Amino acid sequence: MDTVTRPRILVVGAGFAGVGCVRRLERRLAPNEADLTLVTPTAYQLYLPLLPQVASGVLTPQSIALSLRRSPRYRTRIIPGGAIGVDLRAKVCVIRTITGRIVDEPYDYIVLAPGSVTRTFDIPGLTDNAFGLKTLAEAAYIRDHVISQLDLADASQDPAERASRLQFVVVGGGYAGTETAACLHRLTYNAVRRYPRLDPGLIKWHLIDIAPKLMPELGEKLGSSAQEILRRRGIEISLGVSIEKAGPEEVTFTDGRVVPTRTLIWTAGVVASPLIATLGAETVRGRLAVTPEMSLPGHDGVFALGDAAAVPDLDKGEEGAVCPPTAQHATRQAKLAADNLLAALRGEPQRPYHHRDLGLVVDLGGRDAVSKPLGVELRGLPAQAVARGYHWSALRTNVAKTRVLTNWALNAIAGDDFVRTGFQARKPAKLKDFEYTDAYMSPEEVAAHVARTSRGEV
Ligand SMILES: Cc1cc2nc3c(=O)[nH]c(=O)nc-3n(C[C@H](O)[C@H](O)[C@H](O)COP(=O)(O)OP(=O)(O)OC[C@H]3O[C@@H](n4cnc5c(N)ncnc54)[C@H](O)[C@@H]3O)c2cc1C
Repeated sequence: MDTVTRPRILVVGAGFAGVGCVRRLERRLAPNEADLTLVTPTAYQLYLPLLPQVASGVLTPQSIALSLRRSPRYRTRIIPGGAIGVDLRAKVCVIRTITGRIVDEPYDYIVLAPGSVTRTFDIPGLTDNAFGLKTLAEAAYIRDHVISQLDLADASQDPAERASRLQFVVVGGGYAGTETAACLHRLTYNAVRRYPRLDPGLIKWHLIDIAPKLMPELGEKLGSSAQEILRRRGIEISLGVSIEKAGPEEVTFTDGRVVPTRTLIWTAGVVASPLIATLGAETVRGRLAVTPEMSLPGHDGVFALGDAAAVPDLDKGEEGAVCPPTAQHATRQAKLAADNLLAALRGEPQRPYHHRDLGLVVDLGGRDAVSKPLGVELRGLPAQAVARGYHWSALRTNVAKTRVLTNWALNAIAGDDFVRTGFQARKPAKLKDFEYTDAYMSPEEVAAHVARTSRGEV
């Protein structure tokens, strides 16, 4: 059969949702049933829940970057680049490749799984002075940055500079922010022993959140346990507080406190990828409004899932509830989205998304953790075993499993290491530099561009 006559399936994004969907389609599509293409800026699927452990050096960056090309069975064509617009009417996705070339990719079926970006607010100085923790580059950068603060504080004769370099602020009391503060605090706490000139008492980590509780999804008792563990370690937790303004050497909290610091890590939530806005379709708080079958109403062959989509949560029992942006949902939605796409292709009925909550695991570094597998509350070593066991089993490849296990074992035996690589030393890189949120077209620009290319003008 000629390839041109086969339906073209385009998957956008190689995260939990996109890769899960591609792998399922690869397994279930007959060899000549359709052509499968994946567009992704990176050559790996990032296992984001372990990013805090990369930022603190427990894991090497490579160990949570799962190759897209490991198995010879994979038959998907991969376009290295990012989608910058989708014309739903013309069924064309506009892509900027990693060399900067703009290419148009026509499709018959599209799966939108570009995930999310860090949610920021209109806080003066925030995007210029804060780090996010959504990409591998950010995690590796933060690690180097934190260690360089110790090195520079150690070398400085100026008490004010020392104090500002040894204070660190993490905003966001969800699992991402809490784990980040916990893991990085541990790194600096262990590292300072190697700096005999530094007073350990000067090292101070702040974890702040505008909400009245850390990780409310853990429930009252477990949430308080996590808070207690962090407070015992010396992390200053401020609730009901956010950032008033951020500068390169100090941060002002909304309660009036001015904290001298060169490290502001912003993990206060996510919003859907800006790609979703290029569609000009209905959204729910920025996420694409889809049916429980994960298809876009009024547009044949368009599916969306994961952090980028507002998939109705039929099991919550609340009118209008949508699934929260978690890897757990993205992974499970991926399988069903692939099945529903196949059903659409074959003219069969589609199924709505249902789930059973598996619980939550929070690794606080060392032997500390809290977890709630299937509603059972655990603390300490049992919680740590569940947290690590869960992440380990969720890693998709055996190579990644081996790398992560080896790293954990090495860290348990040899302790943390404090090597500053210096790869990015002369390139200050903050939130706005890592997530490329300004790369996208507007819906009008997409339509005009596609019309021009169809007339052969581009
Ligand atoms: C620090 C941290 C800790 C977390 N911990 C947990 C946890 O413990 N448990 C849990 O369930 N969830 C956790 N999450 C949330 C979880 O990681 C996300 O919900 C999950 O990654 C969503 O999957 P996704 O496939 O929708 O998006 P992602 O996994 O983010 O994948 C999106 C993919 O799309 C690519 N992409 C982006 N834009 C484009 C574009 N324009 N064109 C093409 N490709 C694009 C990206 O490069 C990426 O590969 C955590 C998140 C963070 C940041």
